Amino acid sequence: MIDIQRRSALRGSALLLAGTVALGCAAVAAPASAAPAPSAVATGRPAPPAPSTSTGYGGAVSSVDAEASRIGLEVLRDGGNAADAAVATAAALGVTEPYSAGIGGGGYFVYYDAASGEVTTIDGRETAPAAMESDAFIDPATGTPYSFANAVSSGLSVGVPGTLATWETALDEFGTESLRDILKPSILLATRGFRVDATFRQQTLDNAARFAQFPDTAELFLPGGDAPAVGSTFRNLDLAKTLRLISLQGTDVFYDGPIADEIAWVVQDPITSGDATLPAYPGFMTDDDLAEYEVRLQAPTHVEYRGLDVYGMAPSSSGGTTVGESLNILEDFDLAADDPGQALHLYFESTAHAFADRNAYVGDPAYVDVPTETLLSQPFADSRACEIDPGTASAKPVAPGDLEATGCEAVAAAASADTEGLSTTHLSVVDRWGNAVAYTLTIEQTGGSGMTVPDRGFLLNNELTDFSFTPNPADPNIVEPGKRPRSSMSPTIVLEDGEVRYVVGSPGGSTIITTVVQVLMNRIDLGMSLPDAIAAPRATQRNTASTPAEAEFIAQYADDLAPYQQALTLVGAPGTSASQIGAVAAIEVDADGLMTAAAEPVRRGGGTGLVVEPAE
Ligand code: GLU
Repeated sequence: MIDIQRRSALRGSALLLAGTVALGCAAVAAPASAAPAPSAVATGRPAPPAPSTSTGYGGAVSSVDAEASRIGLEVLRDGGNAADAAVATAAALGVTEPYSAGIGGGGYFVYYDAASGEVTTIDGRETAPAAMESDAFIDPATGTPYSFANAVSSGLSVGVPGTLATWETALDEFGTESLRDILKPSILLATRGFRVDATFRQQTLDNAARFAQFPDTAELFLPGGDAPAVGSTFRNLDLAKTLRLISLQGTDVFYDGPIADEIAWVVQDPITSGDATLPAYPGFMTDDDLAEYEVRLQAPTHVEYRGLDVYGMAPSSSGGTTVGESLNILEDFDLAADDPGQALHLYFESTAHAFADRNAYVGDPAYVDVPTETLLSQPFADSRACEIDPGTASAKPVAPGDLEATGCEAVAAAASADTEGLSTTHLSVVDRWGNAVAYTLTIEQTGGSGMTVPDRGFLLNNELTDFSFTPNPADPNIVEPGKRPRSSMSPTIVLEDGEVRYVVGSPGGSTIITTVVQVLMNRIDLGMSLPDAIAAPRATQRNTASTPAEAEFIAQYADDLAPYQQALTLVGAPGTSASQIGAVAAIEVDADGLMTAAAEPVRRGGGTGLVVEPAE
């Protein structure tokens, strides 16, 4: 079912116009007093309000960022389809959310084609270099794994980026516009700049110590030695230049040209400042690894839930199988809005069991035999559901299920440590024809590897830290040459009778999976509106003894959950971004075609949901 899409087949039309870019190469943070409002910066027009929710017709875009949603909406308004708008929105997120996404990373693109009724996905996950072996994260001096904190900011963590190949493939397979046209608004945005908000400044401050160790990153993101002030304008002229070069010369300039050489150099020999304290281990990536990068066009995962068809991302992401298995388990219970304790208890139990199976069985299917069909089957979920006591929490970690089980047998297994980051970004699009895109993209941690390609304006990912560091052959997620690390990204499209009903996704490392399940449960089972389902407080049970929860969740539901003996732990330090779970960007289309584009009202500074023709 996996169809390897060779990038080279798509690259016939590259224009060889070297030397046409005349932009400067430094990021500029202008003083706050000189900063116009966001859209005035990008378009010269006054900025309209950026609502987190809009309802109407004619197409919808939802993302974490006002500029990005506006750019996607403009593409829809001008006649582009959902794939065109999704790539334009993603490219803009690479400008305004450079610590979460961009051409130095990877992601997963789910596309629903209304004309054919088919859902197709693009696996644009980063890959391990061909020379990277299973013991790559083992320190030869000690024989034990490198610390996660040190591995993150190193060449070793950088996977071969898949984002640009994803954009090219999405436009080629599903879109109507050229990459050249689609990149234009983002080139303009990077050139004119965007207004720094509190989230961007805080993310910069959170990374300031490690950014300072990489001079090219410090020059770009710590101009004058400090994080840009809230209200100032952040321009990234290097990125504008890079995107323009790609738009003129095609993606070869990135995968098979000068940028590929530069990425390989940086990965093999990270450039650190003289007084750097990070070890910044060198990685194995070569320009051949970039030249050979391929996205995979593959079938989606599918489960039926309460009469709806839920489509997601098959492995290498664990998103589709784990969201699907959780929903299949929940399908065996009645969830009632007037008994939130019972519903949330069953939600925790379903995701705990699905995570046990994810950790035991899911890796890159090109390297391990992933039982995708079984993990998505209702009989397997039934065997897991019968292990759940509707009245009491199970002892966690629970063991993974026996794939042959028809009853309640279980096999012993250990839970594995979860070190995925909490960064990433998600966007949802529906167009006037009923096509839809759910696209989650990332550079892994907020700030990725911390390493910028000199004068190119983008950060390299640290996605390879999503592999297990210890080379245990029984683990489906050990490092192997060319392999994709297991992801949790869960871009999800839900159909009803063949028409789009919901498009959902979120950042948040492995909490992405529980966030998508919780939002769907809130909306489908508990009768909340989509904006309420998103705004509701969250908790994330991933097969751990206690369930991390937002403060508001504990305040609201601790008493309801007490009879079930579910232990809750406050997630993150109060007031920090770690105290929030996820940042959803979603769309609902009702039976009459009314679209609701809904993003977070508060988390991560609030997102923006827009529609082409707002309802009165
Ligand atoms: N690297 C993570 C994954 O692929 C995503 C990171 C995040 O969401 O913060 O699942």
